Amino acid sequence: MKVTEHIKKANGKTQFSFEILPPLKGQHIQSIFDNIDPLMEFKPPFIDVTYHREEYTYKDAGNGLLKKQVVKKRPGTVGICAAIQNKYGVDAIPHILCGGFTKEDTENFLIDLDFLGINNVMALRGDAVKTETYFKPEKDGHTYASQLVAQIQELNKGNYLDEELQNSSKTNFCIGVAAYPEKHMEAPSLESDIHFLKEKIKKGAEYIVTQMFFDNDKYFKFVKKCRDAGIEVPIIPGLKPIATKKQLNLIPHRFHVDLPEDLILEIIKCKNNEHIRQVGVEWCIEQSKELQKSGIPILHYYSMGKSDNIKAIASQVF
Ligand code: FAD
Repeated sequence: MKVTEHIKKANGKTQFSFEILPPLKGQHIQSIFDNIDPLMEFKPPFIDVTYHREEYTYKDAGNGLLKKQVVKKRPGTVGICAAIQNKYGVDAIPHILCGGFTKEDTENFLIDLDFLGINNVMALRGDAVKTETYFKPEKDGHTYASQLVAQIQELNKGNYLDEELQNSSKTNFCIGVAAYPEKHMEAPSLESDIHFLKEKIKKGAEYIVTQMFFDNDKYFKFVKKCRDAGIEVPIIPGLKPIATKKQLNLIPHRFHVDLPEDLILEIIKCKNNEHIRQVGVEWCIEQSKELQKSGIPILHYYSMGKSDNIKAIASQVF
């Protein structure tokens, strides 16, 4: 079922969903199931599975030269989605990127999803590869997520890249896109970011999932700005509980979001990570309850491969 249909069917009740990462290459898929199992009691209508593009590493070739290696550390997004739908009977949403994909790669990826009965996708640009500063599209790939959304929509109309194909089958993807209540790091202003967010909706995206935020006020203000700009689709908040002291610096650096002063002070006071985890869970419960009260259709949690704190939150909220 499509995300939009799940929202309609819930008839105003706030639902619980979460995102997982594929395991590091070499790990068994059971590690994923071990994280999903404890969260199934909260009846997620869907589970998102991230996509991780290739990374470049340089190894000593032994002759004074470096050998470039291209590695995908977390492959398996499509396989995990199929396994989730099979094992749990829950919709799985693969993330799909512009980065590392030509238009032909994108089309073939979507054909695989369609054949597997996966009809939701989260369309993203992706970040620059770790060794580069700016995002670079493939030679025949997309520069922005809006172009990827447009390609998926074309396939939904039965228009494949090869214009000579006759009587082609139409896909039926419901497309989600990302948004940033605190602005995407490259956007010159929140207004311009919202302008391009609207472009993704115009091209056919049907719902939005936000970057994590720790201050609900930022989310509420962002939603108001989007509505004022004419964006009417559901804006699903993304939430993540802080779990370690290291994240105090890592989260603002990596995700370009601010942490509220009260939360920072609480974490600084903590003696160990166990205590920090507790503070993070309590903060996230408060955020979730306030969002739930305001009638949000789905609260979406970034599990980052750890289900215990998400379970602690969900059991207090759902
Ligand atoms: P876009 O919508 O293309 O926007 C990128 C930037 O370009 C923005 O600053 C925007 O304002 C600007 N822009 C857009 N269109 C134009 C235009 N026409 N002209 C000029 N500027 C423009 N990354 C992964 O690698 N794998 C994942 O699985 C993944 N999942 C994510 C899930 C969520 C919910 C979120 C919020 C992020 C996720 N990311 C993931 C990270 C994401 O790929 C990065 O944040 C990336 O830098 C931007 O992706 P986007 O789809 O928002 O890009």
